[in-house]
Amino acid sequence: MPGLESSPAPLAFATRQLHAGARGFDSHGARATPIYLTAGFEFDDLADGESRFADPDTGFSYTRVGNPTAAAAERRIADLEGGVGALLVGSGQAATSTALLTILEAGDHIVAASAIYEGTRELLRSDLGRLGITTDFVDDPRDPAAWEAAIGPDTRALVAESIANPRGGVLDIPVVAEIAHRHGIPLIVDSTLATPYLLRPLELGADIVVHSASKFLSGHGTALGGIIVDAGRFAWDAVPGRFRQIAGETGPDGRTFVERSGERAFLDAARRVAMRFGPSPSPLNAFLLLQGVETLSLRVERQSQTAATLASWLEARPEVASVDYSGLASHPDHDLAERLLPAGRGALFAFTLAGGRAAAEALTTAVRLFTPMTHLGDVRSLVLHPATTTHAHRSDADLELIGVGPGLLRLSVGLEDAADLVADLERGLAAAAATTTAAAVTPVAAPLEAVSA
Ligand SMILES: *Cc1c(COP(=O)(O)O)cnc(C)c1O
Repeated sequence: MPGLESSPAPLAFATRQLHAGARGFDSHGARATPIYLTAGFEFDDLADGESRFADPDTGFSYTRVGNPTAAAAERRIADLEGGVGALLVGSGQAATSTALLTILEAGDHIVAASAIYEGTRELLRSDLGRLGITTDFVDDPRDPAAWEAAIGPDTRALVAESIANPRGGVLDIPVVAEIAHRHGIPLIVDSTLATPYLLRPLELGADIVVHSASKFLSGHGTALGGIIVDAGRFAWDAVPGRFRQIAGETGPDGRTFVERSGERAFLDAARRVAMRFGPSPSPLNAFLLLQGVETLSLRVERQSQTAATLASWLEARPEVASVDYSGLASHPDHDLAERLLPAGRGALFAFTLAGGRAAAEALTTAVRLFTPMTHLGDVRSLVLHPATTTHAHRSDADLELIGVGPGLLRLSVGLEDAADLVADLERGLAAAAATTTAAAVTPVAAPLEAVSA
């Protein structure tokens, strides 16, 4: 194949997002990656079937195990993240659960940042907890001593997000990776909000990256997907008895994944876990992911610029009590973000309206361009009220502790014209201000009436 791998000079991100991993493997020479919408693949003869079963790298057998469209997406994202390979699965949640189930077994312990995607937090707390895998949460991920203190003899993974949802905390990946490695455990980073364009956790010392590909990577709000990328550096066999599924159990050939697969040990083990649990991606969704990734840098660059514009504009408004965006000097991680996210601070941020829930409701109802929904990373701008949706199951005390108050709204900034988005928020803030005035006159007035009046 006219492979990029053989190119003399390293290619830039914008070039690789178009070309990496998706050339030269289709026998008809299709230039765009074809959608191999097939459940299975013909075997030439018994020996061929035997070898594809024994080693999926020798050929495809069944789409739950691997598929050419998915494999092209895996090669491209692995290239962009700087990993040795990747595994595409059906959703971001499947990426996190597959990565963790590959590494962990009953009795193992996880330390995770407490500011983490709520679905992940519940997976760790509730579902993995039920399987005997327990988690302790670090409330201040900026404090190295807090990570240290939470690590115990059974801890087998540290889990955090490069940019945390919804308040934009930035993970000091080099610091946390150093702590993990000193204890012989891997650091797993959910980098959905950063995307490989803004930050590459593997280059900063993380061992495994997971993404919800449903967000910025696909970018258009049309497909679900998740991807796991491995740096291929972690020594799974360094401490005897640990990480048994990768370094202990032997396969039919009498070898462990570490012995058989070397730097791809984790990924091959993860593919087996995915094959058994079955969170397969659709080849159509793999295609949509590939197509989305082709414009990733352009989208994220512009979306980050517009987010920065909106965040500073909102911060100056009297209706707004605070804005959580690491691009602003007021954010506690501003300096860290300057260091780790030089290309932009991302398209997602939160702000808190002084008027509380009524104001948040009025703004959400009044805006025309921001769509109220629970998604992010879309080319369209979206607005979400976490306290009544993603964080509704949290107690009031919890919400206060994590700063997700009744007046907090999360914006995912799209590709619309920045001035149009400012005008839309202006309309929203006017509606929000009206509720505060109405409430001051008649404290029991229903906020919705104030809006429709
Ligand atoms: C959306 C999201 C997930 C879950 O991804 P799905 O594709 O919806 O399963 C995980 N982590 C983060 C940070 C997300 O934003």
